[in-house]
Amino acid sequence: MRIPLIAGNWKMYKTMGEATAFVKELLPLVSGVTGVEIVLAPPFPSLGPVAALTAGTNVGVASQNMHFAEEGAYTGEVSPGMVKDAGAAYAIIGHSERRQYFAETDDSVNRKVKAALASGLVPVMCLGETLSEREEGRTFEVVERQLRTGLAGIPASDSSRVIVAYEPVWAIGTGRTATPAQAQEVHAFLRGLLSELWGATAARSVRILYGGSVKPENIADLMGRNDIDGALVGGASLKADVFANIVKFQ
Ligand code: PEP
Repeated sequence: MRIPLIAGNWKMYKTMGEATAFVKELLPLVSGVTGVEIVLAPPFPSLGPVAALTAGTNVGVASQNMHFAEEGAYTGEVSPGMVKDAGAAYAIIGHSERRQYFAETDDSVNRKVKAALASGLVPVMCLGETLSEREEGRTFEVVERQLRTGLAGIPASDSSRVIVAYEPVWAIGTGRTATPAQAQEVHAFLRGLLSELWGATAARSVRILYGGSVKPENIADLMGRNDIDGALVGGASLKADVFANIVKFQ
């Protein structure tokens, strides 16, 4: 049984004060929610404060990125151990904005996924095609490459600790959501690949999130599809009441 997971990716929004005010507003709105894992991914400076405020609640914390090295001369970077120490249990890895603006590749994503697992963090590995790739009919080829390279060398025994997020780049921050059918088609394809990689039983346990202009109005339709196990939410996660309405999709 895959427990749905809804994660809010705040990107580079919210000061520490704004982050803590958000959490104080969100917690009472979602305290009664059961059967859904709720995760917030604040910017690095707010990881510790958000983790402290959510400790013992039904809200978990993720970093939006991390380096693959445990320590070293990497000015400006944050290690998996530091993310864990700040109180996060998850790490978003390979978000399309990281790939687009910070030169992340399938190989660096793979190193980060392995490092996250080694540190006891749950990686949320993002992948998805661009608009031109979709229009050229290359969606499946692109996501297959991203999935296979991103998960290379990771054994089936780690499968239940890996989360995949399908985020078509053309749907991120654009207001243009993939239709539930379009998303389901790719999710089913990804689960088929996971089955080739790790076997059918392991593949059935992996949560595959959808991301791309998710909002209260479309979450229920998306979640109604067989292989959509949750959502990675950007813009609509910045307001506590809106995010709470997404979390309470059922
Ligand atoms: C994201 O940042 O992962 C995302 C899906 O953004 P948005 O919901 O704003 O499209």
